[in-house]
Amino acid sequence: MHTWLNVADDRPTFVTHLECGLTGEKLPADELHGLSPAGKPLLVRYDLAGLAKAVGPGTLQSRPPDLWRYRELLPVRDLENIVSLGECMTPLIPTPMLGNGVWIKDEGRLPTGSFKARGLCMAVSMARELGVRRMAMPTNGNAGAALAAYCRAAGIEAFVFCPEDTPEINVREIALHGARVYRVNGLINDCGKIVADGKEAMGWFDVSTLKEPYRIEGKKTMGLELAEQFDWELPDAIFYPTGGGTGLIGMWKAFDELEALGWIDGKRPKMVAVQAAGCAPIVRAYLEDAEHAELWENASTIAAGIRVPVAIGDFLILRAVRESGGFAIAVDDEDTLAARQEAAFKSGVLLCPEGAATYAAYKQAVADGRVKSGERVVLFNCATGLKYPLPAAGKALDRTRPIDYQSL
Ligand SMILES: *Cc1c(COP(=O)(O)O)cnc(C)c1O
Repeated sequence: MHTWLNVADDRPTFVTHLECGLTGEKLPADELHGLSPAGKPLLVRYDLAGLAKAVGPGTLQSRPPDLWRYRELLPVRDLENIVSLGECMTPLIPTPMLGNGVWIKDEGRLPTGSFKARGLCMAVSMARELGVRRMAMPTNGNAGAALAAYCRAAGIEAFVFCPEDTPEINVREIALHGARVYRVNGLINDCGKIVADGKEAMGWFDVSTLKEPYRIEGKKTMGLELAEQFDWELPDAIFYPTGGGTGLIGMWKAFDELEALGWIDGKRPKMVAVQAAGCAPIVRAYLEDAEHAELWENASTIAAGIRVPVAIGDFLILRAVRESGGFAIAVDDEDTLAARQEAAFKSGVLLCPEGAATYAAYKQAVADGRVKSGERVVLFNCATGLKYPLPAAGKALDRTRPIDYQSL
């Protein structure tokens, strides 16, 4: 029995309704929704005035160190519906070896080895609450693994569609959890089309990035957690590897809610959207002052998690980046690989390629003066580095011959 289930909660959540992220149109919570009538992401809204009276930062202290400690700011009504695999708070690691004022938020510690667990534990818990029996999604790997695991834990059927070059380890992990997984000769948006088109025939719920309201709420906990870990005084900048942008949008939403609650003041971090030079639709839109991002043709990068040629929440990402005084920045794969090598060597932290991209971007931003050494900066390492191919290494040693120890 999880300890939070023992808590006598008369009001486990303060959800009031859902709202279209573009038009502001309101929809009732407690029924199943995908996109808004305008075809845009739906955001979950809360009775923050009521919440502020019932809960304060001090309330959290006696709760277990997992993301459900923020349950009043999360959508699940009946705590019995929570599907949990142990969503621990992730460490904020000081890494002065990588830069004066730099921390790494290491999300690789979460179930299934990536922060996709935050979003999917929420989406699957809500799916259970709303009676969904079958879910489907396109994925570059990590989201599919998290969906497969949480669906298995919830007893919900899962269908997963990956680009054909998705890392083998991800596909096998998804299959091991009993999800129906297919490699598709296309990119993630092509896989997304298969999910959308199959809805009628298969009766599945489409849990694609931002096409349902709850993954954002799970990812929002990164912002809540950061605020709590920084003692309710946010850092100066957050470097976030941006694919669909759920995390960046979610953190910005978390900061809005925390400010409305009076738990933080108005000082916000610069939100920095990091993309790969081979797939940088958000960076291009940012530089062109556009509100929406066009599809990026021939997307290619080793950082699979951010190989997202088109993002339905583009305008929300760009809005957060601009409102925060941040920026969007692209890094070459070579620099990403060099950054992973350097971080592993200097700090002892093994970054995934997407996480390494944030370090490469940080170095670029310090060099061009957009971030100053000494500013408090958080780099997101969103998955365990162990899920990705590593450079070959290891010299042989013949134990049957004399060993020249000084040469080791
Ligand atoms: C999904 C993913 C991202 C991108 O996250 P979004 O919030 O969807 O932009 C970055 N890195 C890794 C490892 C991922 O799996």
